Amino acid sequence: MTPAPPEDNSVIDSIRQIFWAQQIRFVVLGMLGALVASTLAAWFTTADLTLHGRVHTLVVSVVLTCTVAACLLGYSVRLNVRYLRLHLQTQLAAYSDTLTGLANRRAFLSEGELRLAQPSQAGHHAALLVVDIDWFKRVNDMHGHEAGDETLVHIAQTLLHATPANALVSRIGGEEFTILTDVTDTEHLEQLAGALCKSAEAASFYYRGERISVTVSIGLSLATPGDTLSALLSRADKALYDAKRHGRNQFLLAA
Ligand code: GH3
Ligand code: MG
Ligand code: MG
Repeated sequence: MTPAPPEDNSVIDSIRQIFWAQQIRFVVLGMLGALVASTLAAWFTTADLTLHGRVHTLVVSVVLTCTVAACLLGYSVRLNVRYLRLHLQTQLAAYSDTLTGLANRRAFLSEGELRLAQPSQAGHHAALLVVDIDWFKRVNDMHGHEAGDETLVHIAQTLLHATPANALVSRIGGEEFTILTDVTDTEHLEQLAGALCKSAEAASFYYRGERISVTVSIGLSLATPGDTLSALLSRADKALYDAKRHGRNQFLLAA
C-alpha cells in the first residue's frame, strides 16, 4: 500500500500564507480604489446640481461602482484560488517521493535547512539519522524489483511510525532515508536509533506468499550551533559507513 503524499509541510504552508495575504491586500486596495474613484467622479461631475442631488448621485455612484468592483474582485480571487491549487499540486509532486509518499531529497534539503536555521526548543538539539537498508540488492535479486519497491514502502511506514510526529522523514536516494528531528541529548538520539533498528528488524511482511525481512544500519549526527545540513549529513554518512563496516543492523554516532 502506497501512503498518500504528505499534505502538510511548511513550504506549502508558507505558500498558502503568502497567497492569502496577497489576496486580502488585492481586495482591500481594489475596493478602496473603486470607492475613491467613484466618489471623486460623482462629486466633480455634478457641480451644477443642488447639494441634495449631488449627495444622491454620489451615493448611487459609490454603491454601483463598489458592487461591480466586489463582483470582479471576487471572481478574480476565485480564479487565483484555482491557480494556487494547481501550483500546490505541482509543489507536492516536486517535493514528495512518488513511491513512498515521504519527502524527497529536494524537500529534505530545503525544509531541512529551514528547520536547522530555526532555534530548537529549550534543552533540545537538532539531530540527523541516515538510515540505509542492509543488503537491499539481495531483496531485489531474490524476490524481484516489485518486492523491493514494496519493501521500501514498508520500511518508510515503519520509520514514520517509530519517529516523533514532527520529525522530517525523507527518502533521499534508492534505499536511503533520513530523519531530522529534535532530541534532548546523545542518549535520547541513541534510544531513538535503537528503537528504529528493532522496529525495522521486527517488521517482516509477506509479498506474494514470500516472507521478506530486512534490517537497517543508521548513522547519527547531533547538530552543534552554526552547523549546516550538509555538514550534519556528511558526519552521519560517515557514521553510517562505519556501522556497515562493523556488521550492519546497528547504529553509530558520528565522532
Ligand atoms: P548495503 O548493506 O551495503 O547497503 O548493501 P545494499 O545491497 O543495500 O546496497 P547496494 O548499494 O549494493 O544496493 C542498493 C540496491 O538498491 C541496488 C538498487 O538496484 C536498489 N534500488 C535502488 N533504488 C531502488 C528502487 O527504487 N526500487 C528497488 N526495488 N530497488 C532499488
Ligand atoms: Mg543498503
Ligand atoms: Mg545505500
